Amino acid sequence: MKRRCPICRKPTDSETNADFPFCSERCRLLDLGNWSSEKYVISNPVFDESEEDSRPRDPDDSDDNKDAHG
Ligand SMILES: [Zn+2]
Repeated sequence: MKRRCPICRKPTDSETNADFPFCSERCRLLDLGNWSSEKYVISNPVFDESEEDSRPRDPDDSDDNKDAHG
């Protein structure tokens, strides 16, 4: 299968190139670098609201605790 290197647009072949779809190891690593440096931005807006949903009860709010025996 023939393709073009997504990094430098050089033609590359899956049968002869171990770094396919990249033309070389250099371009493969470059692509990895792009990912890790967040050059590729996902077009989906992601709202990362990490609200603490399951926090422990407030010790001040122990009103229905009067049934407990000591
Ligand atoms: Zn390349």
